[in-house]
Parts: sequence; structure tokens; C-alpha cells
Amino acid sequence: MAESWTIYKEFRFEAAHRLPHHDGKCRRLHGHSWVGRVYVKGDRLIDTGPKSGMVMDFHDLKAYLTPLLENYLDHHYLNKTTGLENPTSEALARWIYGYFARLGLPGLDAVEIRETCTSGCVYRPTN
Ligand SMILES: [Zn+2]
Repeated sequence: MAESWTIYKEFRFEAAHRLPHHDGKCRRLHGHSWVGRVYVKGDRLIDTGPKSGMVMDFHDLKAYLTPLLENYLDHHYLNKTTGLENPTSEALARWIYGYFARLGLPGLDAVEIRETCTSGCVYRPTN
């Protein structure tokens, strides 16, 4: 039987951005209490040792997140720290995915970003 597990770690950060091309108020500098999730997928579980029964230890996943939050996201101006000219949720989700991909996060599946309680997006490469 083929099977898989997708685990995730949720993270939160306060940050400012502006969307210079937007035709409404998002053009102005403003902030959000952002919520994100990084999803890691595996088709087998670790079968020995202290992490047995896991796709990945949540603690290990958090270790990838901490420097990202500290250096690029939390209480930062996202247009500057990410280098994105127009950091929409879509662009930011793709940027964060690329950050984890460059670090070689095993099983990286998707990144979700929510900028309000009701609005967000999930980025996942399709090839
Ligand atoms: Zn915004």
C-alpha cells in the first residue's frame, strides 16, 4: 500500500510590507500579523531511535524556522529583507519555499502564508 504523511509547523510573525502596484490601500506601507505553515511530506516513517514513528521531529523542523523568522520576517520590512519588489502573500510563500529549498529541507512540500484570518495562499511547485 502506498501511503504518505504530511506534517507541518505553524509560525507567526509581525511584519510590514507595501505593494507598489496595487490600486488600493495596500500600496501604502502597512503591517500584518502573518501566520505561515511549512509542510513536509514523507512516504515512510523513521523506524529506529528516538525519532522513530516520525516523518521528521517537529523540533528539527522548528530549527529551520528560527533563523528565517529572526533574520528575514519577524519585525522586518519584507520588501527590503526578501528583496521582493511586490511581496504579496503569493510571492512571499514562494520566497519562503525557496529559502527552505536552498537549505535542503528534506521532504519540503509546500509553504502556506496567511496575511489576515481569512486570506492566504499555499505555494507548491508543480514539476
Ligand atoms: Zn498587506
